[in-house]
Amino acid sequence: MRSFQQKPHFLPMAAEVPFGTPDATGKTRIPAIQIKTSDGNTVAFSGRIDRIDVLETADGKKYFMIVDNKMSNKEVKQNSIVAGLQLQLPLYIRAARLGLDGYEAAGGLYQPIKDVLVASEDTDQINTQIDKELQTSGMILDEELVQEAAKPVRIARRLDTNDTVSAVSADEMYAVEDCAIGAVADRVTLIYRGEVSPKPVKDGMESPCTWCDHPNACKHDSTIPGCKIVEIDHKRRIEITQL
Ligand code: SF4
Repeated sequence: MRSFQQKPHFLPMAAEVPFGTPDATGKTRIPAIQIKTSDGNTVAFSGRIDRIDVLETADGKKYFMIVDNKMSNKEVKQNSIVAGLQLQLPLYIRAARLGLDGYEAAGGLYQPIKDVLVASEDTDQINTQIDKELQTSGMILDEELVQEAAKPVRIARRLDTNDTVSAVSADEMYAVEDCAIGAVADRVTLIYRGEVSPKPVKDGMESPCTWCDHPNACKHDSTIPGCKIVEIDHKRRIEITQL
């Protein structure tokens, strides 16, 4: 506890933070993200951020960190963002940038929240499995002070794929946010053009159609031309960051 108090640390500022819609006081403190499509339309993108943590340093710098609670483990992968999946963190970071004057973006973290059952009586084995199941992922600014303040979050060194929180520069983080906004703009452009045929994307082992609640509505049928499942190829990495 003493060492926690002595060192600067991220602390929760607010939970369930809306952007683009009013909060409990009736004020819209964080505006919607305005997304322009290639056809010249503008869409206001709103949402709700699970938690925003903040850090204030001795020299007066202020940072915010987005925390998104997840029921499952989730790695942030650049190709998944381009494919229109895993958009929350980068979009939430951009929204917070628009609404939190004086703060710099320190990153965004997926935090698994779930019960972990381990069939073992070995304490080390139990702790290892719990750490693995509750491992945080996301991206964080590649600055020592910020990473120290985010501990015990484990940060990947560049090019190291063993940990799932990637250290990125401020420019790289901004580029990832732009990439997510571009992915939304692409899809909204297609919807405006009337192209609404189902195009499910598979990331890993499981197709979303196996757990989706709306198969009757979309009429997806992989035997119909154009109705196939797209699989993300993470080996063909898009070189914006090392995510
Ligand atoms: S069943 Fe239809 S709506 Fe559901 S994930 Fe598959 S394509 Fe999308």
